[in-house]
Amino acid sequence: MAAAKYLKALHNEFGDWLLVIAAYNSGPGYVLKAIKKSGTKDLSDYVLYTTVEPCFMCSYVIRETRIARVVFGAKAGGIGGVYSPYPLLTATDISRWQTLVQVDGGLLETDCLQWLQKAKG
Ligand SMILES: [Zn+2]
Repeated sequence: MAAAKYLKALHNEFGDWLLVIAAYNSGPGYVLKAIKKSGTKDLSDYVLYTTVEPCFMCSYVIRETRIARVVFGAKAGGIGGVYSPYPLLTATDISRWQTLVQVDGGLLETDCLQWLQKAKG
């Protein structure tokens, strides 16, 4: 129930369910900052930098919002949107996603893996 209330509050803020999902995954501050900086809710010129390869759900949101480029450090294993059996982030056979995403993985991979180990505790 708390998640539903939070999602509804995010929808009141953003007025767009894709932006709600993006805000739910990344935190609303990052989405608000991007909108404020660009003056638009169109994220198609944005580059997303992340420690870990985006998962399936994040990859879906990235494709739907037409984010131009994704840069990540470490692979996500079996749930990643690039290096898994279901590479949604780089799929070219889904007709609704006409815009390709430029994906650059492995940036500072060792540092990202070390950071992830520390975060796990
Ligand atoms: Zn994700």
